[in-house]
Amino acid sequence: MLDYVTDKPDSHRVQDEKRQGEAFAPFANDPNAYRKRFYIESYGCQMNFADSEIVASILNKEGFGATRNVEEADLIFINTCSIREKAEQTVRKRLTEFRKLKEQKKGMLVGVLGCMAERLKSKFLEEEKLVDIVVGPDAYRTLPGLVEEAEGGQKAVNVLLSREETYADIAPVRLDSNGVSAFVSIMRGCNNMCSFCVVPFTRGRERSRDAESIVHECRELFNNGYREVTLLGQNVDSYYYQAPSSPQGEAVTFANLLEIVALISPLLRVRFSTSHPKDITDEVLHTMAKYENICKYIHLPVQSGSTRVLQLMNRTYTREWYMAKVNRIREIIPDCGISSDIIAGFCTEEEQDHKDTLDVMEYSKYDFSYMFFYSERPGTLAQKRYKDDVPENVKKRRLQEIVEVQNRLSLLSNKNDIGKIFKVLIEGDSKRNEKEWKGRNSQNKVIVFPKENYELKKGDFVEVKVDDCTQATLLGKIIGR
Ligand code: SAM
Ligand code: SF4
Repeated sequence: MLDYVTDKPDSHRVQDEKRQGEAFAPFANDPNAYRKRFYIESYGCQMNFADSEIVASILNKEGFGATRNVEEADLIFINTCSIREKAEQTVRKRLTEFRKLKEQKKGMLVGVLGCMAERLKSKFLEEEKLVDIVVGPDAYRTLPGLVEEAEGGQKAVNVLLSREETYADIAPVRLDSNGVSAFVSIMRGCNNMCSFCVVPFTRGRERSRDAESIVHECRELFNNGYREVTLLGQNVDSYYYQAPSSPQGEAVTFANLLEIVALISPLLRVRFSTSHPKDITDEVLHTMAKYENICKYIHLPVQSGSTRVLQLMNRTYTREWYMAKVNRIREIIPDCGISSDIIAGFCTEEEQDHKDTLDVMEYSKYDFSYMFFYSERPGTLAQKRYKDDVPENVKKRRLQEIVEVQNRLSLLSNKNDIGKIFKVLIEGDSKRNEKEWKGRNSQNKVIVFPKENYELKKGDFVEVKVDDCTQATLLGKIIGR
């Protein structure tokens, strides 16, 4: 049973449910080049996928090569998510499958990384007897040492959270990349304490990464042919970096960072995710409006449309405040795409609160949304303070109603694009037909169009006129370069 729904199956945003469980194999084919092989599988938000690229880099330096084939691995890593109970169940189920492999292959080690490792700590070793290594999101530098310990027959755990670690100096190994778009972590952790959310407990305090290292990474990506970077963080708008070497010097805000990255090249598109509505400033909106290559798209999770529920969620804004923010975005960036995350059936939610959520959706005219029903998480403020009192069947019915509204809004939004011309970045062949390209416009909508006789390749920009659509995809024709 699904506990989340997305109306946009082809998205590659932060919470990309389509990529769940993806395994990677980015290295050279020479099987003798490495002393051991590792297999890594990632779940959860895009931050986890980006972390797996850091883990791959750390392991690679120590002589471990990646494999896509779990059966030939000496080390199996699973980078886990705790955001909802279902996410943890998926990981536990996957671990039972690894048990069989471990029984067949002597010496094979299994490591659990990420949020679930952080949440359960050494309890994991007791609960899941087959696990040898447990590593939290801030302790990946210690992985090689932990692997060595585990090879010596001991169970190895490091779940220390850090106030400083940003892995700024580690060049991520791009895993299973399309070679066109890449994710760049700009900060870690979260200080927001939304009452439903486990992230502040599993990923620790918010810290911003050295601005120079971010710009360096983006520039390298551009030089290597990438044409789009997505700056990643749980709350990117609170990015703030003050170099320790010049404490009197000017600090870099998120608006500054966006501008510096945008200036690398007009041919490099810049995206970001996620924005907390309370933190996105006019300065950020004006910077977006100023640079053509900063994509006109904001993921602005509302969570609920009821002021009373928002207060219980500790989101720090009211429904009116949120709607005013949507107005401001449309005022400064009239063609901006807006998407959302929505939770159905949070504690004490009444029918009227739910109607308020549907109403805010209609008002905001989201292009797409990620929609969930509330899943109580141990240790969160909501779990300690409120009763999870909305019956499951009611949560599901409300989620269904939210999905229906979103489906209608998505189709409407796409229909409004028919006849428009968009600059599209080509990401590769369309999944269904190799005679068609798949790309994205600035608003993050997927566009599929015939290749015809144009000499084009992945990473090229092209002008496409939309002539049809489905709920999830725009369809069009090339009209020029
Ligand atoms: N930091 C981001 C933000 O605040 O928008 C995203 C954090 S989280 C990884 C992604 C989404 O999961 C949240 O926006 C929220 O809608 C959903 N979520 C978090 N905790 C949840 C819970 N306990 N039950 C259901 N959905 C949850
Ligand atoms: Fe969780 Fe709220 Fe932080 Fe997002 S902003 S990660 S929902 S606590």
